[in-house]
Amino acid sequence: MKSIVVANWKMNPASFREAKKLFDAERKAAEKARGVSVVVAPPAIFLRELSSLYRGSKIAFSAQNAHFDVDGAHTGEISLLQVKDARAKFVLVGHAERRAEGETDDDTRKKVAAALSLKLAPILCVGEARRTDEGEQFEAVREQLRAGLADVAASALSRVLLVYEPLWTIGKEETMDPHEMHQMAIFMRKCVVESHGEAGLRHAKAGSGLAQAGRNMKILYGGSIEERNAAAMLRDGDIHGFLVGRASANAIEFAKLLRAIEIA
Ligand code: PEP
Repeated sequence: MKSIVVANWKMNPASFREAKKLFDAERKAAEKARGVSVVVAPPAIFLRELSSLYRGSKIAFSAQNAHFDVDGAHTGEISLLQVKDARAKFVLVGHAERRAEGETDDDTRKKVAAALSLKLAPILCVGEARRTDEGEQFEAVREQLRAGLADVAASALSRVLLVYEPLWTIGKEETMDPHEMHQMAIFMRKCVVESHGEAGLRHAKAGSGLAQAGRNMKILYGGSIEERNAAAMLRDGDIHGFLVGRASANAIEFAKLLRAIEIA
């Protein structure tokens, strides 16, 4: 199965000239990588120009954030309609760094629903700040999933990409054990099936149960990852790919990561 790598450039690089150089290098790496599709999430100010320069089909574009309202008095924000007009297909919702800046569960609910209504695919990020033996992480993830997907019809679940971001690994050297990721992926699918079970049965056509929709949900790992541990995570973590930060701001590291996970 094809894997997906979302390249979240965060607030990098400093100029459009550098952004174009980074994009060109990542485009070449993406075109070489068999079985991997790439979503580039540049800073909003570079989005339109990069997407209009690109003619291929291997890369899609994402915004890193957008407002749920279609217009209005929201100084400094960009709307999902503007994101769509800039030829992006995806939008990140609830990234840990946005949550730290005040994005609430209720904002994620509105953003996911608004994105779907515009035929943009939301990339909903969920994850706990810390793990405890009592399993605090599971409750945190369950609540973020419940809120973020609250207004999503079961029939639209397959258009949402989920990202599990263990916050305690972001920006750090520490990475997660693939078996722990696997356990979390099973838990996330179970939450989705539980929350959308009844609605799904109403929407599903005969013979296609909702449990299927939950199991088919694409889950990415969004913690720290490198070339050396990426293949094991993809193989054992029950994931469809990665959302990467630092590794995508460096074209060489990014190319190594894609090589490490491409289908041989
Ligand atoms: C992230 O922000 O989701 C992330 C994985 O960042 P980094 O790769 O920089 O740890």
